[in-house]
Amino acid sequence: MRFPIFKTKIEGVTQKLNLTDPKERKIYFGLKTGTEIKKLRDYLKKSSFIAYLLGKKNSGKGTYSKMFAEVVDPERIDHFSIGDMVRETDLDFKIPEKKKELINFLEKQYRGLLSLKEVIFALERRNTKTLLPTELILALIKREIAKRKKKALFIDGFPRDLDQINFSLFFRDLIGYRDDPDIFILIDVPEKVIDERIKWRRICPLCQTSRNLKLLPTSKIGYNSNKKEFYLICDNPNCRETRMVTKEGDARGIEPIRERLERDEKLMERAFSLYGIPKVLLRNSVPLKETEKSVDDYEVTPEYSYEFDEKTKRVKIIEKPWQVLDDEGIPSYSLLPPPVVVSLIKQVAGVLNL
Ligand SMILES: [Zn+2]
Repeated sequence: MRFPIFKTKIEGVTQKLNLTDPKERKIYFGLKTGTEIKKLRDYLKKSSFIAYLLGKKNSGKGTYSKMFAEVVDPERIDHFSIGDMVRETDLDFKIPEKKKELINFLEKQYRGLLSLKEVIFALERRNTKTLLPTELILALIKREIAKRKKKALFIDGFPRDLDQINFSLFFRDLIGYRDDPDIFILIDVPEKVIDERIKWRRICPLCQTSRNLKLLPTSKIGYNSNKKEFYLICDNPNCRETRMVTKEGDARGIEPIRERLERDEKLMERAFSLYGIPKVLLRNSVPLKETEKSVDDYEVTPEYSYEFDEKTKRVKIIEKPWQVLDDEGIPSYSLLPPPVVVSLIKQVAGVLNL
């Protein structure tokens, strides 16, 4: 499965922008896709849409959809993940009033092979490993959609396996509940990119902010001269220069989630082959050879390395474009989130015929 390269380079536009700076990012989106942003804002005043995000774990689903909302209209666009939804449902079950409201809702909306009683039992007694019946997930999604009134929605985590994709027949029914267009958003990210995102991930033990020593450093870098190791220092002023740490197991990269990634891949292939539902294809990487004609230099993810200067006792930061092999072994660059979101905005506007 190879997605087409989306050209974000515009002839004659040569302004170099720093995409980590929110102000410059705003200028960037205006330059690259201002027309579509305006059309989408007008559209969202009266209508909405529901987009199902499909991509491998750690492919950036949350990042892209949240940035889309931030750029287009945070008031009229929302994002929710099935994982969070199930955790919230678990909490609701502990509060009698909320539990009652939930059961009332399910009595009206739930349809499935198990009785509602059995389903509620499954919900209360399950451990974290057991999956909830798809029919229940569908009913819960309806509830989330209802809570969010007329907002456009990005849903992360449904469908989650091949069995659930057969429920795509129900998608019209789900949407019928709101009468809005539905879209599949498929995200193609090389596994090597996911691997490095996990391997170099660093977390602040106080505020839980997640960054990356190689790909997304903080503004201050520390050096441990005994271990000859560089580390990130949390930017959050409340954390008072706390040293960010690795999470257990992260050093193994994608190894522990290999099966999950394979399942996600099969799911995307199946979704890709479905007829009758519009698809948006997002691509994270661009082969080196294609880069010059399709993207601007500053749209490519840099990698950072560090040197310690014994004399000045300072850490020197070295930045260069990050080269990574895609799943076919082709040397590529990985795009920063904003150019992927430009492609998302343009394609969503296209699918909605704006
Ligand atoms: Zn922190």
